This record gives sequence, C-alpha cells and structure tokens, in this order.
Amino acid sequence: MFKVAVLPGDGIGPEVMAQAMKILKKIEKKYSVKFDCKFSDVGGIAIDNYGEPLPQHTLKLCEESDAILFGSVGGPKWENLPPEKQPERGALLPLRKHFNLFVNIRPVKVYPALKESCSLKDKFIQQGLDIVILRELTGGIYFGQPKYISEDRNYAVDTMKYTVEEIKRIAKVAFETARLRKKIVTSVDKANVLMTSVLWREIVTELWEKDYPDIKLNHMYVDNAAMQLVRNPSQFDVILTENMFGDILSDEAAMLTGSLGMLPSASLNERGFGLYEPIGGTAPDIAGQNIANPTAQILSAALMLRYSFKMDDAARDIENALENLIAKGARTSDIFYGDPGTYKVSTEEFGDELAELI
Ligand code: NAD
Repeated sequence: MFKVAVLPGDGIGPEVMAQAMKILKKIEKKYSVKFDCKFSDVGGIAIDNYGEPLPQHTLKLCEESDAILFGSVGGPKWENLPPEKQPERGALLPLRKHFNLFVNIRPVKVYPALKESCSLKDKFIQQGLDIVILRELTGGIYFGQPKYISEDRNYAVDTMKYTVEEIKRIAKVAFETARLRKKIVTSVDKANVLMTSVLWREIVTELWEKDYPDIKLNHMYVDNAAMQLVRNPSQFDVILTENMFGDILSDEAAMLTGSLGMLPSASLNERGFGLYEPIGGTAPDIAGQNIANPTAQILSAALMLRYSFKMDDAARDIENALENLIAKGARTSDIFYGDPGTYKVSTEEFGDELAELI
C-alpha cells in the first residue's frame, strides 16, 4: 500500500485532481495495488479555513505519506496578502524546502495527434518534440539570503547563490536521465555575466569529464536557449538549468505543446520522495466551469507511480491511454480547434474516457 497526500489546492485544482483520482482507482484495480489517498487543504483554501497556506496538519500528512500529489494554489482573492502569507510563497516554496526537493523534472512532449496545437509551424517540429527539463529547485535567487526591500523602499536585494554540492547533485541527475534517452545534455547558464553560472559551468564540465564521457554536453547561455527553444526545439534532449532560468524556460517550452494544461512535473529529493504537480497554475479564468484540461494532473500522478512507487508499467499504461484518447479525437476546450475527427469534452468526460481506456 502506498500512502498519498492529496492536496488539490485552489481554482481548477479540485476539478483536475478528481480526474487523477479516477485514474488511480483504475490502476488500483488493474495492478492489484492500494493507494491510501488522504486529502488536505493547502494554499488559498487553507488560508480561508485555517488562517495559513500550509497548516501543520497538512504538513504532518505529507510527512507521513510516501508521496504528495499537488494541484495548484493561489488566485486573485489572496494576492493582496503579505508575500510570505500568499499561497505560493507560503505553501509551495516551504514544501519544496522542507522536503529538500532539489530536482524538478518537467517532461515536454508534443503528441503526434496534437501537432495542430503546437504554437510552432509544422516544419519546426518535424523531428517531433520530446524534451526533459531538469530545473534546480531549492537554491538560486529564490532562496538566497539576504533578500529584502530597504526601509525607505528605495532599493531591493535578492541574492543568487549556489554551492558546488547543489550543482553537482542536479547535474548528476541530468546526466543519468540523458543516459536513458538520447544522451544529450544542454546545460543552460549566464556564465558571461553571473558568477554562480561560472561555477555552474565549471562543476558540470568537471563531472561530465570524470563520469559521463558517453554523454554529449553543450553549454548554452539562457538568452540563446530561450531563442533556440522556439527556433529549433528538436535539438534538445535534456536541459539542465538553475532555478529561475528553469522556471522561465519550462513555461516557454510548455507552450510549445499548446496548453499549460498538458504538462506534469515531479520534484524529488535524494530519497526519491516526491511532490507531483501540473506546471500550470490555478487558472482562475476557467475555474469551476468543468472545462480545464486534466492531462497535466493525470500525468503528474503517472510520474508519481514511476518515480516514487517504481510502477513504470502503470505509468506507461496511463501515458499510452492518454495518447490513444487524443488520437481518438477527445479535446478539452484549450486544445480544441474544431478540426475534423476531433470532439470537445468536459474535464469530467475527459477523465471518464481516459479511465475507460486503461
Ligand atoms: P495559470 O497557469 O493559472 O493560467 C495561465 C493560462 O493557462 C490561463 O489562461 C489558464 O486558463 C490556462 N490554463 C492553465 N492550466 C490550464 C488547464 N489545466 N486547462 C486549461 N487551461 C489552463 O497562470 P496564472 O494565470 O499566471 O496564475 C493564476 C494563479 O495560479 C495565480 O494566483 C498564480 O500565483 C497561481 N500559480 C500557481 C502555481 C502553482 O501552484 N504551482 C503555478 C503558477 C501559478
């Protein structure tokens, strides 16, 4: 039995999480396994109910679980709170830090049947698109100290800091990941300007020379990487980068697939404990309408099966069923363009049809 802390959060979180639950139920039956899913509030809903975005009982549930399945948090209602009390700053960042989730894995894939929703012309993705972005998640400018606005509010300071150990451990994951794929790592930095990037480049190169000569390693400045992602995305296999660059590049890469609602992520620590969540946010503009795309949440559950529970077959089963459902023509409204052979489905219908296919 696997214990799962289920934190749907705000906005579309509960709607898409309900579909992931349907899929896990199917996997339970098919693979004779039991998921003990316990729900708890996080983010804005937790502020409303308990006065804080990450209540103690939610954190305790996560500590007692084998994995965390997370929706997303935040929304206009809580945007005027002090930053540390806001849903994302007050819940998601502390969770990442608390569990030392230093690696964020974001697969970016364009399904053949969904080529029409890719924001690039066909000729730019002729060789398909299948990238994994490995973003360092617990260091860099998001966490570096000092971090403050001066008393007279005349200036502000953020600190970007990386240690050798922090760089080494994420680089190792990138090389290991590439070994199981096309064996290409592109390490993205800004070594022409930032000292953290100079060190980053040095450490990544050292590790590569010592342990991973079979991998092709490229270094790329982040501005160039942003450009290359829309110019020739097929050149990438594994992209390795620090926290802030990864945040920006992974959203850019996500849009190549046509919708933020398509892409999952896994954030892991050294023990393989993970938090699994869609890369998008709470989509307040469409929340409560049963039209959100649950794919990212469902694929996040698949990543949980793969990385935390070592159920690769079941994860693949979900991914294949999803590919089949898309090939069959089912589209939520974010990826529906009225093309022949496609039909529009609600969030719930998408979940039901997918469960049927598993
Ligand atoms: P967003 O990702 O919520 O929405 C951006 C656009 O993508 C919207 O048009 C939305 O409708 C669409 N979209 C996102 N997910 C979708 C899905 N599953 N199906 C269909 N369409 C989808 O980003 P935003 O508008 O910048 O942020 C909204 C709120 O979410 C903010 O409060 C922000 O702080 C929060 N947020 C949370 C997380 C997180 O919890 N990890 C991440 C990003 C943003």
